[in-house]
Amino acid sequence: MKSRNNKNCLSEEIAKLRKKSLNYKKKYTIDQLNKPVSFWIKEERLLDEIGKEITIILRTRGCCWALENSGCSMCGYVEDANIDYVDPQQIINQFDYALDQKIDEINSDTNNYALKIFNSGSFFDSKEISEETRIHIYKRISEIPNIKEITFETRVEFINKNLLKQMLNYLENKYIELGIGLESVDDYIRNKYINKNLTFDKFMKAVKLIHEMDIGIKVYLLFKPPFLNEQGSIDDCIKSIKKLTESNINTISINPCNIQKGSLVESLWKQKKYRPPWFYSLFESFRQALKKEDFKKVRILCDPSGSGSKRGIHNCSSKDCNENMNKLLKNFILNQDLEELNKSESECICKKKYDIQKIQN
Ligand code: SF4
Ligand SMILES: [Zn+2]
Repeated sequence: MKSRNNKNCLSEEIAKLRKKSLNYKKKYTIDQLNKPVSFWIKEERLLDEIGKEITIILRTRGCCWALENSGCSMCGYVEDANIDYVDPQQIINQFDYALDQKIDEINSDTNNYALKIFNSGSFFDSKEISEETRIHIYKRISEIPNIKEITFETRVEFINKNLLKQMLNYLENKYIELGIGLESVDDYIRNKYINKNLTFDKFMKAVKLIHEMDIGIKVYLLFKPPFLNEQGSIDDCIKSIKKLTESNINTISINPCNIQKGSLVESLWKQKKYRPPWFYSLFESFRQALKKEDFKKVRILCDPSGSGSKRGIHNCSSKDCNENMNKLLKNFILNQDLEELNKSESECICKKKYDIQKIQN
């Protein structure tokens, strides 16, 4: 009974903060609804090589878990959402706008590409992305030979065999991964601290179906959820990476927690009850969780939002210290080689402060 009350309290607090933040939100104009939130191309680790990735963030009504319930404790994505219905043609226009700007660059590049479509919710939720929009997107991607890999994100409750079959019909020559926010393999951390409303069993049922259909899975892990200290988050991350590698997950993407607007994590951070993770903790997790041979079966990704800033993963306030760590992380990801994490020329003095703080906050 006690834990049920705790859960309700957390959920209510998240909903209250979100509502307050959304009260200040301006309505998007028609022009804004015809353009994506953002899109860019950058260097990225593809399955077997270093290549490029185009990311397109679409503006939909937003994630149902955040809109119809309370949402996850670290998430502020709904701030970018329209909240009200967005016409399917507008979402098609957003996608086309981004792709049309970048298509010549992709077609003329000698690199292979991955395409990542974010809608800060679920690609297979028809209230966000209609069937007609999904089919339009599939058709356009299928016509671009340089795009070899694609990621669509979704909560597991929207995955079903018919939707996957339909997707495969259009994209049979591409490698597809479905991105699922599991955040942690620990049910308690995921549901009591993150408020994800997802059990590991339910996740594994979805994994079975996805793998049976020969589709890949990318799992997102949240590094340092609220209510865990640095050591707790290292332990959670190691346990999660090991378990997911054993479960034949194709890609594990680690997201160091950052302070997003309107989230419970932001409120804790303002009260000095939460600090985003240190790079040292993230590197220790990688070193302890992974062995050289693991990289033959799993790809590890990590591209932290707000890296080096107060709201993102950071060490001390020294620009050099954070830039150095970021460079090591980037090279580790691009090469999938743990040795890259040890290539630091010197160690910053903040390491000593970190060692003391590690078990405290
Ligand atoms: S993290 Fe994902 S599932 Fe959770 S509220 Fe945000 S968009 Fe929705
Ligand atoms: Zn430092």
